[in-house]
Amino acid sequence: MMRPRDPSLLLSVSCLFHVMLLQPWTVYAEPFMHSDVAAQISTANFTQALNLLGADQVCLIEFYASWCPACKHFAPKFEKFANFLKDKRLGGRLLYIARVDCAIEVDLCGAFNVPGYPALFLGLAPDFLAKDPKKLQIYHGHDRQLQHLATWVGEYFKTELIYSEVEAGAPVGGAASSGAHTSSATAKRRPLPSGPEWSLADVEGATLQLWSILATTPSLHRGAEKRAALRGILEGWAAAHPSTSCKSHANGLLSSYDKLWPAGEEAAPAALLQSEPCGPPAGLAFRGEWVTCRGSKPDSRGYSCGLWEMLHTMALRFPEKPGAAGPAQAMMTFLTLFNTHFFQCAPCQKHFGRILASPEAAAVTDRRSLSLWLWRVHNEVNERLRGIEAQYGHSTTGDPEFPKEQWPAPESCPHCRASDSASAWVEDRVWEYLQRVFGVGSAPGADGVRPVTQLQLGQSSRIRTTSVLYSLLPVLGVAAAALLMFLVVRGNMISGRRGRSSGMLWSSAVK
Ligand SMILES: Cc1cc2nc3c(=O)[nH]c(=O)nc-3n(C[C@H](O)[C@H](O)[C@H](O)COP(=O)(O)OP(=O)(O)OC[C@H]3O[C@@H](n4cnc5c(N)ncnc54)[C@H](O)[C@@H]3O)c2cc1C
Repeated sequence: MMRPRDPSLLLSVSCLFHVMLLQPWTVYAEPFMHSDVAAQISTANFTQALNLLGADQVCLIEFYASWCPACKHFAPKFEKFANFLKDKRLGGRLLYIARVDCAIEVDLCGAFNVPGYPALFLGLAPDFLAKDPKKLQIYHGHDRQLQHLATWVGEYFKTELIYSEVEAGAPVGGAASSGAHTSSATAKRRPLPSGPEWSLADVEGATLQLWSILATTPSLHRGAEKRAALRGILEGWAAAHPSTSCKSHANGLLSSYDKLWPAGEEAAPAALLQSEPCGPPAGLAFRGEWVTCRGSKPDSRGYSCGLWEMLHTMALRFPEKPGAAGPAQAMMTFLTLFNTHFFQCAPCQKHFGRILASPEAAAVTDRRSLSLWLWRVHNEVNERLRGIEAQYGHSTTGDPEFPKEQWPAPESCPHCRASDSASAWVEDRVWEYLQRVFGVGSAPGADGVRPVTQLQLGQSSRIRTTSVLYSLLPVLGVAAAALLMFLVVRGNMISGRRGRSSGMLWSSAVK
């Protein structure tokens, strides 16, 4: 569940959305791990904290985002690393170690132009105070072997630094208690959804969050490449977003895109960044709370889950248009643009980039092969994360109530797995399942199909009457046809009888 930091933000839905667009993560996020070693710094205490340090004080600061699953996986490692460093005199001094949650400290992270999360910055306190990333060392590698990190820090001090597990001691908070959670991780089953497997609200929520990330991160909205990439994302939404509001507003933004972000203008103007990608909040299913992507704790699931739902639903909605790119090609373009330019979870981006460049991705040719490929990719990611979560435990890296499983579960799709092998998939059945679960009209409110609850609540009696009339049309048509036939037959019978009797009369008269 997303918890607002300040309850006054909930004064009105429209106020909430306004705040989300300008300062999104004050609504969405909370720090997910508090460290005894690394100070948690924020925009409010940043200057104060760094001003207390000397001009020659070296600082190691981790920039992460609490929505980023890979940051959660990295958190216990960073804790160990901080533990390892905490008593070391490097260059004659102890390091100042801190962390910033970019999901909350949007402006601070924007000023440092963080290239992707998680990222480590190393340098002198005055250079941090000047918010000058060019003067700082940035570690943005993905492997994050602790020895690699130690080498990187050692190079800064021109000394050899050998990482030692013993010196790192027990991780703070017991996050990496390897194996401690393994048995529960494998034993627990993911709850089966009681309703639709995805929700329009969550896809809209992920759309708003993605827009907020790119609007508040300067490096994501600067330069001709980003200008073209953002146009491509809007084209994807305009063609295949399951929310009619997001779809039509993406269309609207596209039609005035050249005015909103004129060619040659380096950074996207505020008018574009502050526009609402899905239109006014009142028209959306999203109400600031995740629905099918709601985690059992505040910092789990949410955005990345909403992204998956967006991708599975879009894959089934790109239209077949003669002369235009087919659905598979259009979706692959969307995925490539999103991953290359706007997926700020660095390890996710790297893995997904590799997948997009694989021969399996190149073999995607039509809607069916596209949807099945995306489903396989999702299960591949689930399998990798299952291993990581078994190693590090769900408590800091995932959601204990939603273990990573291969899906669909047998209960959701009894015929998707071959009866003689639990792991062999029957792709025709999976394809049917994907169409049923993510296809047009598969969730209330999606594709302009009115949510059942709205009909029941009767927000507008006109809408209800019209909808009921529409649903009765086939029945009325059949009834009208039957009545017509009945009248015709009856008419014929009467006129036949009349004809016979008048014939008799006429014949008798002739006689
Ligand atoms: C393209 C992409 C790549 C990613 N790569 C990484 C990565 O490399 N590293 C990383 O840490 N995180 C990665 N993530 C995030 C990660 O996959 C999850 O989104 C995140 O851990 C939240 O998981 P979740 O439990 O909410 O389910 P998700 O896997 O996010 O599932 C979202 C939706 O998919 C369907 N679904 C998924 N699993 C099941 C199931 N078992 N049964 C039924 N339905 C299911 C449901 O509709 C569900 O609502 C990636 C996300 C995306 C979108």
